Amino acid sequence: MTEVLLTADRTLMSNYHNNEFLGFGTCAPPNFIPEWFYSFLFFPPLKASKGFPSAAPYGLRKTEAQLLKEGFGVATVSPDHLEEYIGDTKVLGIHTMDPFGLGPASSTLAAIFKKEPYLAKHFHCLMDSPAVKKAKANGLKIIVGGPGAWQFRYRQKFVKDHQIDCIVEGEGENVVGKLFKAALEGEELPRFYEVSIRETPSLEEIPDIVNPSINGLVEIGRGCCRGCEFCNVTLRPLRWYPLEKIKREISLNLKADNVEGCCLHAEDVMLYGSKNTTPEDEKLLRLNEFVAKNCEGISWSHCSLAAVASKPKLFSQLSEMILTKQSWWGAEVGIETGSAELAKRIMPAKAHPFKAEDWPEVVRDGMGLMHDNMMVPACTLIVGLPEEKEEDILRTMELMDDLEGFRSLIVPLFFVPLGRLKNEDWFKDAAMTELHKQLLFQCVEHDFRWVDSLIDLSFKGKWYTRFLKEFYKGFAGIAKRKVRQIE
Ligand code: SF4
Repeated sequence: MTEVLLTADRTLMSNYHNNEFLGFGTCAPPNFIPEWFYSFLFFPPLKASKGFPSAAPYGLRKTEAQLLKEGFGVATVSPDHLEEYIGDTKVLGIHTMDPFGLGPASSTLAAIFKKEPYLAKHFHCLMDSPAVKKAKANGLKIIVGGPGAWQFRYRQKFVKDHQIDCIVEGEGENVVGKLFKAALEGEELPRFYEVSIRETPSLEEIPDIVNPSINGLVEIGRGCCRGCEFCNVTLRPLRWYPLEKIKREISLNLKADNVEGCCLHAEDVMLYGSKNTTPEDEKLLRLNEFVAKNCEGISWSHCSLAAVASKPKLFSQLSEMILTKQSWWGAEVGIETGSAELAKRIMPAKAHPFKAEDWPEVVRDGMGLMHDNMMVPACTLIVGLPEEKEEDILRTMELMDDLEGFRSLIVPLFFVPLGRLKNEDWFKDAAMTELHKQLLFQCVEHDFRWVDSLIDLSFKGKWYTRFLKEFYKGFAGIAKRKVRQIE
């Protein structure tokens, strides 16, 4: 009997055709594409053997590893196979990323399309599934965690209606054991459990994953030292994993069927092993060399423009190493604003080691280097930051003009109150000015300009390239029309 089951909704249990960029498709609402076809294109289900998925989200694998380490009987199951196992289970742990579509990308798309995004829809499907309802009626305890846990504070009625017993916010390694034990013993659980800084795990306390993660994603560190006001991550201490620990997790993934590549995950991969905002050449080269030698493909989860701009030679060396295996690689990159004034106020260290007032220049240099070295950034711009003025939006629009020739996706995100700005108001589409709309439209035009060549790069040699390209053209065309309607 498995006393603890772990799962996540359908949009998280996918390898997105081995292309994390496609995962953005889960942020869109149901649209003109039939749902079955849309999910095949953007989030096809993972292969599962007897209901156990071949891989799972990395955060879920960490929780699984921690619970196994503490002696619990745990299994991770696909949401489509819950029914087969849940009858014997006492506690269900659910990993979430953006359960109500309140994250920046999905809330922006929801505002444009006026519909709930796929990821929220599938989370609801999971919670409302007959299997979960029946097990709940028989005494099942439900514990929810993951990067999307903060959203439950804004959906207290949902929590109550679905009788979620506990929501864990923060890094769970040092607390999940006691919470799952209390649940198994039938004790009352705190409805919301915020992991304190004191309970944040040290490097030694973070276990290696014991089963494969989706697309070979492995964490190389946690936390960020740049301190942007609007960000949750910055509230946690910075820790870098030793290379040996990373190698162990990569090797574990490579033994799995269907995992051949590796995605290095950190808030800024360029700063691996550094104590401040200056990249450590030796450490970064050794890490990427190991991945390039041993994996079929490599991607980075995030990287900063300032670190790239501060070490152009190092970045070229890394690119040379990575491009021996592939024709491009991707990462998420934060631009956030083109206004030096606003950058100084809300993200004073984002440009470091350069000055905050030089931010637009840092962006131009960093983006130019990425273009020249075949890194394709998926960039974010934040619309509606507190105290944003008309001049700030104009500066961002000027920067967008300068970025026109750089191969990239640039996604505008409505401001979401997180980090030190968590008590500020949400930015709603009703507050959009003419300038905001023009900026949104500029982003859509930029992405539309690049999308064909990005699809060519992403699906080189695959039979469905031409087909997907047509689909994206159509989808981008509709998005463009929607933005025009808002205008
Ligand atoms: S650089 Fe990125 S991760 Fe770091 S604090 Fe700023 S927004 Fe957060």
